[in-house]
Amino acid sequence: MRNVLAVGAHPDDIELGCGATLLAHHAAGDRVTMLVLTGGENGPGDERSQISRRRQEQQRAARTLGAELEWGGLRDCTVVPDSATIGIIESVLRATDADLVYVHAPDDSHQDHRAVSAATLSAARRLSRVMHYQSPSTLTFTPTVFVDVTAHLSGKLAALGAHASQVEMSAMVEPDAVVASARHWGAQARIGYAEAFAPTRMVLDLAPRPAAELPAPRAAAEDLVPAHRLSSLIAVPSAVPVAAG
Ligand SMILES: [Zn+2]
Repeated sequence: MRNVLAVGAHPDDIELGCGATLLAHHAAGDRVTMLVLTGGENGPGDERSQISRRRQEQQRAARTLGAELEWGGLRDCTVVPDSATIGIIESVLRATDADLVYVHAPDDSHQDHRAVSAATLSAARRLSRVMHYQSPSTLTFTPTVFVDVTAHLSGKLAALGAHASQVEMSAMVEPDAVVASARHWGAQARIGYAEAFAPTRMVLDLAPRPAAELPAPRAAAEDLVPAHRLSSLIAVPSAVPVAAG
């Protein structure tokens, strides 16, 4: 079993960047934790109602992904990669005993994303596996590691659908763009649908896993998302019920 930590600046960042990969980890029996460093107070909508609504949305999305959720307690748009931010990430790394970390790509037009990426690189300086995911505001991004998420794309869309305030009010969360992006990276990787990563370090573990740890055989055909179902996939987020904020 791996201990996986995904770090994001705002609610919905992690789901967009690596939500389907986290679902694949969960399905493989890995323990997945999400660390969201700010409450997303400056997203679209009124700030006061935003804080509680986005917190609820993030909790619902984490449940959808089978992940535990930790909050960093920082303020949206003011994150800096200082010792305090690094300390927050280090404490979650220790608590989760994570051996694989996913985080924002370093070259991004949002200052929080850049800061979280830099702070995580410092906090994870002793880890052998650090992978960067793409955000809608990422600039230069040249991925070389791909995860086949064909079986988990609908789950990713369901997790994104939990962030209704962003899906409704922000052009940053467009389900059809999520599907198109996954197919684009899948084509690059010569597979179906993929999430793409740029590693800072990625040590491959080729040791055979004990039989007891191997997941039971899956009904793979039922999990696959054929291309002709794309249109129904895109409709998934609007079908997720949303509690009043
Ligand atoms: Zn963000």
